[in-house]
Amino acid sequence: MQIDILTLFPGMIEAVLGESIIGRARDAGLVSIRAINIRDYSENKHRRVDDTPYGGGRGMLMAAPPIYNCYQAAVADAPADEKRHVVYLSPRGRTFTQPIAKEYLQYDRLVLLCGHYEGIDQRVIDEIVDEELSVGDYVLTGGELPACLVADAVCRLIDGVLPLPECYENESFENGLLEYPQYTRPPVWRDREVPEVLLSGHHANIEKWRRAQSEELTAQRRPDLMKTEEN
Ligand code: SAM
Repeated sequence: MQIDILTLFPGMIEAVLGESIIGRARDAGLVSIRAINIRDYSENKHRRVDDTPYGGGRGMLMAAPPIYNCYQAAVADAPADEKRHVVYLSPRGRTFTQPIAKEYLQYDRLVLLCGHYEGIDQRVIDEIVDEELSVGDYVLTGGELPACLVADAVCRLIDGVLPLPECYENESFENGLLEYPQYTRPPVWRDREVPEVLLSGHHANIEKWRRAQSEELTAQRRPDLMKTEEN
């Protein structure tokens, strides 16, 4: 998969997605991620990318031409039959979830457009964007953190990025359940003991205990997820 992140702050993207599991997946060629600087596509001699909003109001808006030029350059060499999805990270969008991360695996290329300041000119959204996507009901200063979050959640589902599919198959949000509590050595820490069943070596009982813990936690904290499973 190719992920192109269009941004005014490519350093923010590299700082996050150049490290750890995603950084290694990039090095191994399992996914290609580019942070492309929108400012490089400004037609203005001062490399300006923003302007005041028509109709008045606070703050600055990112102008359409540099974003459009940046997008065109990013996809210039793409095959005609490429399955591409262009996402504008925006508090107005559909809320990002694990099922959406899985849905995005179908694309050859994800283009993640990061807004900044007060947002971007509506006309470039209408021209190139397939979907607006929010990471939650709060407002951030820019789309860079949301883009990293989406790229991370999608990349770890790509074959080979995690050692085994089991690494994500039993996680929270799979099967409509939150994950059960987990423990590692030492068996007793500050008088807190690891539940006995986990030390028993009895796999069927361990599975039963984990399932019960998952159901109890989900019922307490996210009953909405259990409803989804029934539907
Ligand atoms: N004026 C916009 C509004 O009221 O909807 C908010 C603009 S915000 C300060 C600047 C940029 O941050 C947005 O263009 C978007 O790319 C990004 N952003 C902020 N909050 C976000 C969220 N919850 N989800 C996704 N992107 C977000």
